[in-house]
Amino acid sequence: MYLVMIGPPGAGKGTQAVRIAWQYGIAHVATGDIFRNAVKEKTPLGLKAKSYMESGQLVPDEIVIDMIAERLEEPDCRSGFVLDGFPRTLNQAQALDGVLAKLTLSLDRVILVDVPFEELVNRATGRRVCKDCGANYHIVYSPPSKPGVCDRCGGELYQRDDDKEETVRKRLQVYVSESQPLAAYYQDKGILSRIDGNRTIDEVTEAIVREIEALGLASRGKK
Ligand code: AMP
Repeated sequence: MYLVMIGPPGAGKGTQAVRIAWQYGIAHVATGDIFRNAVKEKTPLGLKAKSYMESGQLVPDEIVIDMIAERLEEPDCRSGFVLDGFPRTLNQAQALDGVLAKLTLSLDRVILVDVPFEELVNRATGRRVCKDCGANYHIVYSPPSKPGVCDRCGGELYQRDDDKEETVRKRLQVYVSESQPLAAYYQDKGILSRIDGNRTIDEVTEAIVREIEALGLASRGKK
C-alpha cells in the first residue's frame, strides 16, 4: 500500500503516519525527520537544509526530490510506504509521479488531515519536546507533571524553533500558497480522502483505518 499524508503543518500527519505505518507494517518516510536528523548530524544535506528550516521556508525542490528518490529505492519501501511531509508543492507531486513510475509503482491514496488554522497555531505554540528522548508534550493539552521536565526520562523540554508563533504563521502561509493546491491535484486523480483531524488522535487514526479498509487498500503492494 502506497500512501501520502498531506495537510497543514501541525495537523497531526506525523503522528498518524507513524501509527498507520506500524499497523500495516509499511515504511514511514518523513522528510522533516530526515532533514532534522541531517541538520543534527551536520551532513552535507543538513547544511543545505538548515537555514530554510529555521525560517519556516521550504527546502528547495531539487534537494528534497533527490533525497526522496534515493529513499524510496531502499528495500523497506518495496512492500509499502506512507510519505509524511512530501510532496509539499505541485512540482514535488509531479516529480513523485516520475520517481514512482521508474519504480513501476503508483500511489493508492492521498490522505488529507484537515484542521482549522487557529487550532493549529494553539497546538504548535504549546508543543514542547524532550531534548534527550524526543517525547512530545503540550503545555495545555498534555502537560508534563513538572513544567519543563520530561516525565519519561527527566530531560529538559524545549520549544522547537519551527513551533514559535511567527514561524508557525509563516509556515501556514507557505502551506496555503505552495501545498494547498495538492488537494485539488490528487482530487482530480480521484485518489484523495479528506479526514477531519480536529478530533482526538485515536479518533483520527480510526477514521483513517476505516477509510483504508473501506477502499480495500491494505493488501496492495509488491512482495
Ligand atoms: P516537517 O517536520 O514535515 O514539518 O518539516 C520541517 C521542515 O523541513 C519544513 O518546514 C521544511 O523546511 C523542511 N521540509 C520537510 N519536508 C519538505 C518538503 N517536502 N519540501 C520542502 N521542505 C521540506
